[in-house]
Amino acid sequence: MVVVMRPDATPEQVETVVDRVRAARGETFVSRGVTRTIIGLVGDVEAFHTLNLRGLDGVADVVRVSSPYKLVDRHHHPDRSVVYVGGPGHQVPIGPGTLTLVAGPCAVETPQQTLDAAEMAKAAGAALLRGGAYKPRTSPYAFQGLGEKGLRILAEVREATGLPVVTEVVDAHDVPLVAEYADMLQVGTRNMDNFALLQAVGRAGKPVLLKRGMQATVEEWLMAAEYVAQRGNLDIVLCERGIRTFETSTRNTLDISAVPVVQQLSHLPVVVDPSHSGGRRDLVLPLSRAAVAVGADGLLVDVHPDPDQALCDGPQALEGADLRELATTLRRLVPVVDRVLAEPMP
Ligand code: PEP
Ligand code: MN
Repeated sequence: MVVVMRPDATPEQVETVVDRVRAARGETFVSRGVTRTIIGLVGDVEAFHTLNLRGLDGVADVVRVSSPYKLVDRHHHPDRSVVYVGGPGHQVPIGPGTLTLVAGPCAVETPQQTLDAAEMAKAAGAALLRGGAYKPRTSPYAFQGLGEKGLRILAEVREATGLPVVTEVVDAHDVPLVAEYADMLQVGTRNMDNFALLQAVGRAGKPVLLKRGMQATVEEWLMAAEYVAQRGNLDIVLCERGIRTFETSTRNTLDISAVPVVQQLSHLPVVVDPSHSGGRRDLVLPLSRAAVAVGADGLLVDVHPDPDQALCDGPQALEGADLRELATTLRRLVPVVDRVLAEPMP
């Protein structure tokens, strides 16, 4: 069962609902989004019915949700959510109405490489910078990222370009440190079902970019999002980044139908990563076109000033003419789907 609070509900009104439910031996999970607060109830549903929660001040609705992902379910939240990323003066929306380009290097390597990539990304229309300081690499011998030094570089590049920063966290212990520097915390495909990490990012007070596990069903992905939401944070953006199939001609198979499927099931925004799904530079543009056409709320694209020298994922990184072509295509295509390219809001 879910209690949806009115947008103008006070913290005391939320507390009253929580107290009543606790008195009926129920557990509550309060999740705050930009537009409203939702309270998930766990316990004896019949007992909750007798509490007359709908009659309490500040309560907009009480909904029985049978799905295993109550807080992120679209059922009680028919309007799709917008998640805002960045500090005051640099808030970037991700959600319906806009198409948000998130771009940058797969890994932070040097201050100059990160700055160059960020400037290329910004010139192409990116409103957010992506870049990994902690890299979850399949091989333990591959470059693992610069760690905190990489976070400091990202913060300097944010200062220089004004682009808020999205970066991955791979270990629950690192969440407070990464949250100090980042504007949005990314959970990667290999960690989608790392429940301790999901709970830690849910408590961190920063928006979360949750990539789909490469072996996860849509329902498993939404339950992973529910772990984040249950810890109090509804500012979650889902990222379809390709799944493992029998096909070997691409790195992963982009599940384009997951975008409308997830948008029907959940109110959360959904973006597409055409770089990690195809794993090939020549596929980034066609997959981006498909993502925009299918209704994605944004794109996550690898760019690098010198892909041949990249320490991570060079073969899928865009630069030069390829990146300019993506920029031109987005400027043409985004209005056709009744969206605007997202820009930081004052
Ligand atoms: C990334 O975005 O750099 C990354 C490692 O992606 P994924 O988790 O989708 O492989
Ligand atoms: Mn990568």
